[in-house]
Amino acid sequence: MKFSKLFIPTTKETPSDAVLSSHQFLLRAGFINQQGAGLYNYLPLGKMVLEKIRAIVKDELDKAGCNEVQLSFVTPMQLWDKSGRADDMGAEMLRIQDRHQNDFVLSPTNEEAMVELVKNRVKSYKELPVNLYQINTKFRDEARPRYGLLRGREFLMKDGYSFHASKEDMVREFDLMEKTYKKIFTRLGLDFRVVDADSGAIGGTGSKEFHVLANSGEDTILVCGECDYGANIETIFEDEVEVDKLNEQSYEELQEKEVEQKCSCGGKLSFKKGIEVGHIFQLGDRYSSALDAKFQDETGKPKAFEMATFGIGVSRLVASVIEQSHDDDGCIWTKSTTPYMVDVIVSNAKKEPELEAGTKIYEDLNDAGISSILDDRKEKKHTYGFKMGDFKLIGFPYAVVIGKKLSEGLVEFVDRKSGEKIDIKLDEITDYIKGL
Ligand code: ATP
Ligand code: MG
Repeated sequence: MKFSKLFIPTTKETPSDAVLSSHQFLLRAGFINQQGAGLYNYLPLGKMVLEKIRAIVKDELDKAGCNEVQLSFVTPMQLWDKSGRADDMGAEMLRIQDRHQNDFVLSPTNEEAMVELVKNRVKSYKELPVNLYQINTKFRDEARPRYGLLRGREFLMKDGYSFHASKEDMVREFDLMEKTYKKIFTRLGLDFRVVDADSGAIGGTGSKEFHVLANSGEDTILVCGECDYGANIETIFEDEVEVDKLNEQSYEELQEKEVEQKCSCGGKLSFKKGIEVGHIFQLGDRYSSALDAKFQDETGKPKAFEMATFGIGVSRLVASVIEQSHDDDGCIWTKSTTPYMVDVIVSNAKKEPELEAGTKIYEDLNDAGISSILDDRKEKKHTYGFKMGDFKLIGFPYAVVIGKKLSEGLVEFVDRKSGEKIDIKLDEITDYIKGL
């Protein structure tokens, strides 16, 4: 891709409601734009990041034996009446009517629809377990949509549902998904913790959340400094008022609090702030029983499926990466999420030799499987400083600058994160980057 062909409306202005760095930078760098409250469009670079994350999620789930499907985004209201969940979902669930006055819902989650899909199609214990997932649009009419992609009303979620003949098998799958989620978040380059969680409106017994550690996170978690134990404070403090109070406190304020309680390993517990990017639940037979979804067990008797459900906030992850990885100048993408690995900057694209050298490096890198973008823009305003500003704001991991030293056979290599700049020989730059 060449910058001259890329639709990337970067801007200097920051909307006043954008308080978090990820929200500001994603807007300013032209990854997303706001369509309405909690509604966002993905522009070319934003779409690329979203697809990278989606691909990693899919790759690990498929390796773990899950099957990707895609359900209708609109679901009939009857499904929600049958499970008895329509009331629990409250105003978050957007209800609509068709021209015949039939009631529908924009799916906020899909337990009911997935149970209906499996019901009568999986008949015997011999066909179990089954794990189905989709990466699809969700709509929740959040009371306070805010922080950009972190809490939208329309957002992209991976939601998975597994069906089992026994509780033991369901717990086995739950553990497998915990491992799989850890692999996903590790591949994305995130610093995260797995914590015990509250089961909320979805219901059920065992539940764990995956939190990206970030001081701006909306959730407060307690983590052990010695072992990997962690818990959302919602599970520890019975009193909702106390939980709200702690959630309102900043990371810095919480660091001053001594936690009396010790971890069962003897380690010291401390408060951290987290962004919930994943949640896995052991559901049991709550939905299968309510919707009369049964299979024949080994003795030939009908039995309700044991179920578990697994969610990942795919669009929330886009912003989470930046919440954890940015500086005053802009985004710093991780290697697995960046739209392009290298920004090849031609300082003055009107100078033929510079443009030629830049184009060659750009082509060589792409041929070597290292995704790169060429900043070949040549209007008057497209100075070296302007292009460097965009490089920092957008946050590609590396840049190669072709400028004045080209006459000495040198180009400059820039590391976005460390800010380090080094001169490298023109004919060695591709191999140098390959070696990183
Ligand atoms: P939260 O507590 O943040 O409101 P939740 O517990 O209601 O989230 P789940 O029902 O567990 O969310 O949904 C699975 C995942 O979907 C969450 O872990 C989160 O990453 C993501 N998610 C939920 N709500 C939103 C939203 N409004 N915008 C973006 N992502 C969301
Ligand atoms: Mg949750």
